[in-house]
Amino acid sequence: MFHKILIANRGEIAVRIIRCCRELGIKTVAIYSEADRDAMHTRLADEAICVGPAPAQLSYLNIPSIMAAAEVTDADAIHPGYGFLAENAEFAEIVLESGYTWIGPTPDSMRTMGNKVTAKATMKKAGVPLVPGSEGAMNSYEEAEAAAEAAGYPVIIKAASGGGGRGMKVVHQHASLANAIMMAKSEAAAAFGDDTVYLEKFLETPRHIEVQVLGDNHGNIVHLFERECSIQRNNQKVLEEAPSPFCDDDTRAKLYQAAVAAAKAVNYQGAGTIEFLMNTDKSFYFIEMNTRIQVEHPVTEWISGVDLIEWQLRVAAGEKLDFTQKDLKMKGHAIECRLNAEDPFKFTPSPGTIELFHAPGGRSVRIDTAIYSGYTIPPYYDSMIGKIITHARGRQKCIRRMQRAMDELVISGITTNQDLHRCLLANPAFQAGEFNIHFLEEWLEQMRKSEVTAQITSDFSDGKAKKRS
Ligand code: ADP
Repeated sequence: MFHKILIANRGEIAVRIIRCCRELGIKTVAIYSEADRDAMHTRLADEAICVGPAPAQLSYLNIPSIMAAAEVTDADAIHPGYGFLAENAEFAEIVLESGYTWIGPTPDSMRTMGNKVTAKATMKKAGVPLVPGSEGAMNSYEEAEAAAEAAGYPVIIKAASGGGGRGMKVVHQHASLANAIMMAKSEAAAAFGDDTVYLEKFLETPRHIEVQVLGDNHGNIVHLFERECSIQRNNQKVLEEAPSPFCDDDTRAKLYQAAVAAAKAVNYQGAGTIEFLMNTDKSFYFIEMNTRIQVEHPVTEWISGVDLIEWQLRVAAGEKLDFTQKDLKMKGHAIECRLNAEDPFKFTPSPGTIELFHAPGGRSVRIDTAIYSGYTIPPYYDSMIGKIITHARGRQKCIRRMQRAMDELVISGITTNQDLHRCLLANPAFQAGEFNIHFLEEWLEQMRKSEVTAQITSDFSDGKAKKRS
């Protein structure tokens, strides 16, 4: 096993990795920016090294500085967490060429899966179902037109190097196609330095369901069941759960088979996620693979009993998986609510100082966070400041447990989305498991309208009351 691991990340995931290393007797090195001197990961690691000023470009994305930190601290491996450099194949190569172990898949599989066009071509060969659309990248308007006609409108233009829901444009009719391509290309060029785009049929009411996979360097690959991630806003996940309330055993068997085939097609090593969109008739299509640990990994850990971070480390150290697919049994239900420092209904970031933070506790409640009372959230990074995860034997009980945990959570001084989660957990459609990827946005829009209506009605009756008096 490793002697010392450098964690090229911050926030709750850095803390999660530090905790795992400590349990395994591995020393840790935190890197931090000038804005993160007081961050929990900086304090909890055995050593901490400042790698640059606050903007991520100058610190958490600053490869020379991170490599220098690994050298001076004599680390023997680097864990990238998620986000930042986690899916940067070039960084993984630099790490390996400099003689460190990369805690993640090979740069080759990262490259194949990192580009959605090559990923789709590889999946096609492996027999994994794909959303109908263009054969690879679109090189001309005529090609796009033909692909859109063949798939049938509405279609969606997506960036080959896309991520975080950026560079996607939905096109409802032929007349808007040219403009949408132009916009998607310029957004993709600005965000990813690559304006390659491709086209897919836009599925109107799908669910986002993904499968966790884990592979070692000895040819073993297992799946760890599915996660339901349809509760999203702006293509960003807000609440995740495992298993999906929509899947039956037959669908699960097909889904898992496709996920393992996808992972095998790139000889996948480490923890990864195969994302699918599933139609109302339970047909499903591959959309992408994430070659890293996911934010929502705790729900899988809870229903599978597997410590995913520990296995990322073990596999990177060359160990064999000490269990097979048959040993894995899905146990109970888990839900994760992402706690964001933002206005809950406008979704605008709200950094600031946390006056008081009291975490919920009790049976089967897990908190993954890096915040504490008195901590000032810097405005430079993601607004996700923690995750609350609950587990129970069944989904209803798990929801109730999460509601209880949300009621206990105290966080003052900043605005968070705690109330959004409360409303969502009490929503009858959510409770019944009846939702798709548009559910949250549609429901928020309805609430906004009814709030406006309520406001107008109350202004009106106020006015009338005043006139009368
Ligand atoms: P990113 O890597 O930017 O997150 P994904 O391909 O994973 O992009 O898609 C993110 C989200 O966008 C999906 O969860 C889904 O909500 C929506 N989406 C992507 N492709 C389609 C499609 N063909 N039809 C409908 N929605 C889609």
